[in-house]
Amino acid sequence: MASTVTSAELEAWLRAAAVELAAHADELTALDSAIGDADHGTNMARGFAAVIEKLDAASGGEPTVPALLKSVGMTLVSKVGGASGSLYGTLFLDMAKASPAEDALTLAQAADVVAAGVAGVVGRGHAVVGDKTMIDAWEPAVTALQDAAASGASAADAFAAAAAAAAQGRDATEPLIARKGRASYLGERSAGHIDPGAASTTILLDTLARVTAESASDGKSA
Ligand code: ADP
Ligand code: MG
Repeated sequence: MASTVTSAELEAWLRAAAVELAAHADELTALDSAIGDADHGTNMARGFAAVIEKLDAASGGEPTVPALLKSVGMTLVSKVGGASGSLYGTLFLDMAKASPAEDALTLAQAADVVAAGVAGVVGRGHAVVGDKTMIDAWEPAVTALQDAAASGASAADAFAAAAAAAAQGRDATEPLIARKGRASYLGERSAGHIDPGAASTTILLDTLARVTAESASDGKSA
């Protein structure tokens, strides 16, 4: 079983994520219309469409993992807008900074890279678990990913565990009162709705789990 992640797999993930975010844009925007300003779905779909345009326009061979992640981060910062633009941008830029200049990462390296990206989001947005933000999905996902990496899981199984943990974290945001971001302006009225950023995080991780599982069953590095 493969326990590496290549930049080609990451690129396949980004392409699949763009499709998923576009398919779920209305759903994410509906979540954001309940506790925000009804733009999260369009923000994410627009940002990832721009990421794919840039990938399509790139010439030359496959980029290294950090070059790919940095390019995504810069695109998201400039194209997504809203709080999530700078937060998702920071996630990818800080993942890039933490990534060795290789075209594949071991699963342990990948877990460290994701942890560094999430630490960057926390450094910028100062949210902790329970504040009803994307961090409620990312933090448990990082823990699950690190645990899976330490136990010698395959990349596909590790990302599946991370996605499952993110989904639990997403669902757990529903009863919470938001303490960060636009939703916090609503106070108690923010309770009873799932956080849109935790939902988009779960979409990204679900897609990563699916793409790495497909790549493993293709016998990529059997
Ligand atoms: P905006 O709130 O500016 O309209 P979006 O609607 O695109 O931006 O994104 C909203 C999401 O951003 C929220 O659902 C939440 O998950 C996330 N978010 C907002 N503020 C923070 C923060 N300080 N830390 C982490 N995530 C945050
Ligand atoms: Mg919004």
